Parts: sequence; C-alpha cells; structure tokens
Amino acid sequence: MLLQSYKITRTLPCLADPEKLRVIAEVSGEVYEAFPYLNATLKDCLFNHPALTLTIKKGEKLITLHANHITLTKIDDEQEAEALLKWIQDLVNETYQNRDKIQPDYTMRQELKPTDIVKLLPGTNCKRCGLLTCQAFAFKLLRDQIGIEKCSPLFSDEFTEKRTLLFETLRNVGIKIPAEFVESKKE
Ligand code: SF4
Repeated sequence: MLLQSYKITRTLPCLADPEKLRVIAEVSGEVYEAFPYLNATLKDCLFNHPALTLTIKKGEKLITLHANHITLTKIDDEQEAEALLKWIQDLVNETYQNRDKIQPDYTMRQELKPTDIVKLLPGTNCKRCGLLTCQAFAFKLLRDQIGIEKCSPLFSDEFTEKRTLLFETLRNVGIKIPAEFVESKKE
C-alpha cells in the first residue's frame, strides 16, 4: 500500500473563502509514484511532473497531492477533510495497485490557457499593467513575460478570492510567485 496513513497537521482559514478551511495533511511515505497513473486515469486533474504535484478538482474543492503532503481547499469542516482524505487514500492505493494495467501519463494534460487565467484576474481592462486588456496580460503572464505584481488591482481586498485561486493555479503548473506575494506567508 503506497499511502498507508495520513494525519491532519494544519487547519487554516481558506484564503479563497474565509468561511471555509484550508487543510494540510502529512502522508506516510512519498506518494508521487502514483501521480502518472492517476494522471492517466482521472479526467479532472492537473499534473505537474517537474514540481511533483497533482491537483484534483472535486466539485468546488481543490485537492493537491505533493510528494509527502496533501492540501485541501474550500473545506467545510474537519469531518469533510477526513472523508476526502480517505477518498484520496483509496484512490491512490487502488490506482497504484493496478499500475501494471495503466499506461503512465507524464504530460500536463490540462494545459493552462490565457482564458483560464483571465477568469482569475480583475477583468476590468484598466490598463494599469501597461497592456490594453487582461487577456493580453494573461497571455504574457503564462509566457513569463510579465510579473504578476504589475496587475496592482489584483492586490486589493476586493480580489482576495481571485488572487488566491490564481496563485494556487500558477503554482500548480510551476509558475513561480514572488515570495513577497505568497499568501501562505500570512498563515
Ligand atoms: S492591471 Fe490587471 S485588471 Fe488592469 S488590465 Fe492589467 S491585468 Fe487587467
């Protein structure tokens, strides 16, 4: 069994929704060996092979598996977190157990597109970043041609939820967020 046990180590307010929780659980051993097999079998997941992360969408919840911990966002309570962790444990173990029958997939199947990013920007086309539209900003952001800090409106309280989801999305595909903007520093 690859994922033998897990333990919730931190429960924090979810930055995307202050009424919900962000839960971090440590897992026994390193579970990344299962990622290419999960990537091959799950529809709604995002695999970042170099960063060794796999994010699974389950309804509005985002479950990110790292090599030795799991992050759950938009969680109602600890009971829900435990249920999701059990679900993940079974999924990881069953998939890994059947790995001989699965062709591993190392590709980033669900590549991020500018339209995915635009949804997480203020969307006002205010031009403060020096570009004409948020779409143009998203395009350059994905190509590492502009820094996230150039979108100053994104850092207002009004866009806390979008900002948090954008950072999580970018991090999960290996795009670096400057340390001074990493929300987890506040945790
Ligand atoms: S500063 Fe932000 S909100 Fe304004 S146009 Fe640029 S990306 Fe859009």
